[in-house]
Amino acid sequence: MNNVSLCMEYRIALLPGDGIGPEIVANSKKILSKLVENYALNLQITEVEAGDSALAKYGDPLPKQTLDIINKSHIILKGPVGESAMDVVVKLRQMYDMYANIRPAKSLPNVPNKYGNVDILIVRENTEDLYKGFEFMLSDDTSIGIKVITKKASERIVKVALKYALERNKKITCVHKANVMRITDGLFSRVCKEILKGSEVKFEEMYVDAAAANLVRDPSRFDVIVTTNVYGDILSDEAAQIAGSLGLAPSANIGDSKALFEPVHGAAFDIAGKNIANPTAFLLSVSMMLDYIYSLSKEIKYKHASNALQNAIYEVYKEGKTLTPDIGGSAKLTDFIDAIYSKIA
Ligand code: ATP
Repeated sequence: MNNVSLCMEYRIALLPGDGIGPEIVANSKKILSKLVENYALNLQITEVEAGDSALAKYGDPLPKQTLDIINKSHIILKGPVGESAMDVVVKLRQMYDMYANIRPAKSLPNVPNKYGNVDILIVRENTEDLYKGFEFMLSDDTSIGIKVITKKASERIVKVALKYALERNKKITCVHKANVMRITDGLFSRVCKEILKGSEVKFEEMYVDAAAANLVRDPSRFDVIVTTNVYGDILSDEAAQIAGSLGLAPSANIGDSKALFEPVHGAAFDIAGKNIANPTAFLLSVSMMLDYIYSLSKEIKYKHASNALQNAIYEVYKEGKTLTPDIGGSAKLTDFIDAIYSKIA
């Protein structure tokens, strides 16, 4: 059994990050506090430093005191990090083997998109493939990169996809390129078949090039996509953009002992400190975090809190009066937060 499920209180390490991160996180705390109060959530939140600011202050983007708190936490909730992003998030993913990258792509009202109602969940393997980092020069003019696909990592990611699909529309598209990468993607494809055949979900396989085209042609044909690291990286950006904007996309990195929730967008230094950043991706990441706690604890109040937050975001977008400049509105970050707050209250 996962050790998190035994706990009554969920310890969260909160990393505000850099650029627009601190202002998004500081304002979103108002929403989080309201949810804690309304739904009697048992969250113990500790704010810690990480990223460029920690690097400048301590010479380390992930200083020891931050890692000590993270070690004792069940969950990491993170704002965007600047130049040192790779040293923070990639390191944390590796340290805690957070192998499942969950990337929803869901359209919102009043966010222009040419593709109609998009609602796709991408489940991306997060630890291997070409991103394993096995690269070297064979000679002065020949470089080699090694693609690693294991049965163990494939099995666990497909099982995660199955769990999500059973809670959604019960359809999984397994994306690979096994007609060319017969050994590596061939293994991934075999594992998909072994685990999904005979399950309750409708299962199809699709080559990655066809998946990229079909996402644009007809995104409504997809429910859950499960895929390997590199294809998932690319397709999840494409799907988020099809849903409206990469800037609105939340994400989760989930392992067996720790999970990290963060917006997909970066630190956006160009608009930092101007009170115009859009906190939607961070707030949707909070909602994913609450769903995750519900999936572990089965305490329905976490699901209710997550739904309340999602509904409030949806309503504010539907009204369209308090949207931030990145999506064509003129509201300030603080106006947007107040609008969400009033819907929850
Ligand atoms: P990275 O280099 O890590 O991708 P970045 O700072 O370039 O980070 P992106 O996420 O790529 O940021 O975003 C590109 C631009 O989109 C930003 O410079 C900013 O103008 C805008 N943007 C991104 N996120 C937001 C947001 N949450 N709210 C408003 N504008 C945003």
